[in-house]
Amino acid sequence: MSDNKPKVAFYWCASCGGCEEAVVDLNEGLLDVAAAVDIVLWPVALDFKYSDVEALRDGDIAVAFVNGAIRTDEQAHIARLLRRKAGLIVAFGSCAHTGGIPGLANLTTKEKIFETSYLKSPTVDNPEKTIPVTKTTVDGVDATLPGFWTQVHTLDQLIDVDYYLPGCPPMPNSIVDAVTAILEGKLPPKGAVIGSKKALCDTCTRTKPVKPTLHERFYLPHEIDVDPEVCFLEQGVICCGPATRGGCGEKCIQGNMPCTGCYGTLDGVTDQGAKLVSAIAAYIDGDSAIEVKKAVATILDPAGTFYRYGVPASQLFKKEAMEVTK
Ligand code: SF4
Ligand code: SF4
Ligand code: SF4
Repeated sequence: MSDNKPKVAFYWCASCGGCEEAVVDLNEGLLDVAAAVDIVLWPVALDFKYSDVEALRDGDIAVAFVNGAIRTDEQAHIARLLRRKAGLIVAFGSCAHTGGIPGLANLTTKEKIFETSYLKSPTVDNPEKTIPVTKTTVDGVDATLPGFWTQVHTLDQLIDVDYYLPGCPPMPNSIVDAVTAILEGKLPPKGAVIGSKKALCDTCTRTKPVKPTLHERFYLPHEIDVDPEVCFLEQGVICCGPATRGGCGEKCIQGNMPCTGCYGTLDGVTDQGAKLVSAIAAYIDGDSAIEVKKAVATILDPAGTFYRYGVPASQLFKKEAMEVTK
């Protein structure tokens, strides 16, 4: 370890590993980052122990990038430890930022998750109906597991977060911009999302209508022949662009798939799903409540469509998620 380079930590909580992959995807850029900093924790890539971090002075780590949501005692313990040891905490990726895909689990219960995972799944062979417990004894040896919480939390529902890096995962250009801003001390005000201030629609080059074309129903992309030049909403396919922060390079749109909203919402918007609902409403045709309901009914999985990455952070579900309950 070198004393004159800023110390940096990477940590993953309730994460799919994609955010770690995104760091590796920096390719040669990763070597530049690695040369400029002293990595003191990165469980997915390097063999550090938690005790190495505990031994550091408080505030000794310049910046800790934490990806993944918070669902277990262990994740909460390390997040709190990193908060103590790091000058800056960056919530890295949708899961840490707004709850992400793991946050959809807040639409069900811990009991149902355990029942499905350990008892009812067709591939499970569990005649003794064992489910995880935090303490047990096996052949005279005490064993422990981290407690699994009743709710998924965003990182800032647990600890103070200095900056947010959006995306599922953040794109390499977004990561480089954030790391450069940190290393050069050119950071926005505390609490800011490091990224574009524009909506995805502002930079999307698809043809947008002057006036929305009204639809009697909505489609999934595979149900129609999607014109790659025309706005998805215009074609009756839900696209989260109006309610989503730009900066990803319109990756999904370029692949002829609608945006599902992973960069989160814009500054000043408190609820991405509500903002999206109001944008989509402009495309619904119908003279009566029944016709409107019929059109709305064709939006399959509304929670997953409007809140795919943000159930724990949303106004609708936030109250429960704010209560950090084990
Ligand atoms: S933000 Fe996306 S890529 Fe990153 S850990 Fe969460 S699910 Fe995986
Ligand atoms: S709604 Fe989607 S396809 Fe249409 S302009 Fe916005 S980002 Fe582009
Ligand atoms: S288009 Fe939307 S879902 Fe796709 S990467 Fe960009 S912000 Fe994320």
